[in-house]
Amino acid sequence: MLHNRMTKNLTSTDEKPLKEKTSEDFAKYFQTTYQPPSLKDARRRRRKDIDIHYDFDIRTDMQQVGVGKRFYIRTYGCQMNEHDTEVMAGIFEGMGYEATTDVNDADVILLNTCAIRENAENKVFGEIGHLKPLKLEKPDLLIGVCGCMSQEESVVNRILQKHPFIDMIFGTHNIHRLPDILREAIFGKEMVIEVWSKEGDIIENLPKVRKGQIKAWVNIMYGCDKFCTYCIVPYTRGKERSRRPEDIIEEVRHLARNGYKEVTLLGQNVNAYGKDFEDSSYGLGDLMEELSKIDIPRFRFMTSHPRDFDDRLIDVLAKGGNLMEHIHLPVQSGSSEILKIMGRKYSREHYMTLVAKMEERIPNVTFTTDIIVGFPNETEEQFEETLSIVREVEYDAAYTYIYSPREGTPAAKMEDNVPMEVKRERLQRLNQLVNELSLKKNKVFEGQVVDVLVEGESKKNPDVLSGYTRKSKLVNFRGPKSLVGKIVPVYITGAKTWTLDGDLVTESKR
Ligand code: SF4
Repeated sequence: MLHNRMTKNLTSTDEKPLKEKTSEDFAKYFQTTYQPPSLKDARRRRRKDIDIHYDFDIRTDMQQVGVGKRFYIRTYGCQMNEHDTEVMAGIFEGMGYEATTDVNDADVILLNTCAIRENAENKVFGEIGHLKPLKLEKPDLLIGVCGCMSQEESVVNRILQKHPFIDMIFGTHNIHRLPDILREAIFGKEMVIEVWSKEGDIIENLPKVRKGQIKAWVNIMYGCDKFCTYCIVPYTRGKERSRRPEDIIEEVRHLARNGYKEVTLLGQNVNAYGKDFEDSSYGLGDLMEELSKIDIPRFRFMTSHPRDFDDRLIDVLAKGGNLMEHIHLPVQSGSSEILKIMGRKYSREHYMTLVAKMEERIPNVTFTTDIIVGFPNETEEQFEETLSIVREVEYDAAYTYIYSPREGTPAAKMEDNVPMEVKRERLQRLNQLVNELSLKKNKVFEGQVVDVLVEGESKKNPDVLSGYTRKSKLVNFRGPKSLVGKIVPVYITGAKTWTLDGDLVTESKR
């Protein structure tokens, strides 16, 4: 069932050619065909709006359309987007296209966008501007914008008004419609816009071309119902909806048969996995327990929400084995007052109790986190509470950001009395502390032997191999390329803030 399909082919509703339209034309058009993100509507979501489909197919007339042609996808933002790109690559290949890494060589270019921060959006608009000369040079080139940004009304408006050479705009719920969207763009010769403002279905049998053969990402759920006041995700990705366990297990078994060494279970809030099942109380702990029986050496999951992290999951993780003991647990702020305004639905005390429980039950557990600095009206004292929680937990690493308002979210309407220079200075102080702790935590490994999953050559030096430990530490060491894809013991000789250096432990050195 479709809700509110924002339409394709603007000229079909109005005789004026696209390039002659004024902003008033667009405004009038959108008033009738597009609903901007609405907190009220989103909260009225119901499970019954979600269907699971197993019947994806590429229409016959599109199965060969890409033979002799190339596609290029540039991905911005999170791992969910990376994974959506793997799916779109699979659909392109199903239509006969080949992948290219050279944008100049492409017949179709897609920008898979991220809406989480303003600078992510600016980067995309910069890139759209850079693509214009290419489009003028190659009029048959098709350029599309998809991902989270295309779910935002302001973004679609800006593209229509300032970048009418874009051929396709489609949303996160429309990826499976790529063959049809492409067909309309090729044969219709007009801009195709397809953004469904809906909660989203689950489509199980989409093809995928996975990036790499060592690590794989598996979506276990989509969307988010948490509505943190600063976040656009619940509007761009729809309602929380979990895949059935049997479908996930089948996908992971397939990865095991194909030799993958690490699987990351993905979701915006993985701890809510299963909460939307009406027929069982099956949750992430149950899923991890079942998956741990599959022959994959490493499993992890992201991203966690402290509010939904339950005891069942902690008990399962405590068994270790192929379940990694690195937990990414976003805290966002150390101040309970700020957490409340952020709508995070936990307090500092709740978070610290959870950390203590995990430290007690999960052997050698380590934590990384996300932190927002300079949320509207954050006081110096509240910021210092963030510094103190970082000291208390001793995170191995933290992804730190200055708050960036997102249009359509409640926080964007809050007045803010914190000047940008104060925010920048706070970020600097926080980063200094985070870096000191990272180095301290890395130093612990000096003189130890760690297991490293070798991913390939180091980005800085092709003579050096690099890979990750079970605690997600990046290790560089010298060794033969034949080790790529294997888990090998490495003796740590030196620690830096972000990486560890080591020597391969060979049979003779053991
Ligand atoms: S839990 Fe994460 S994805 Fe969901 S609203 Fe909050 S920040 Fe956004």
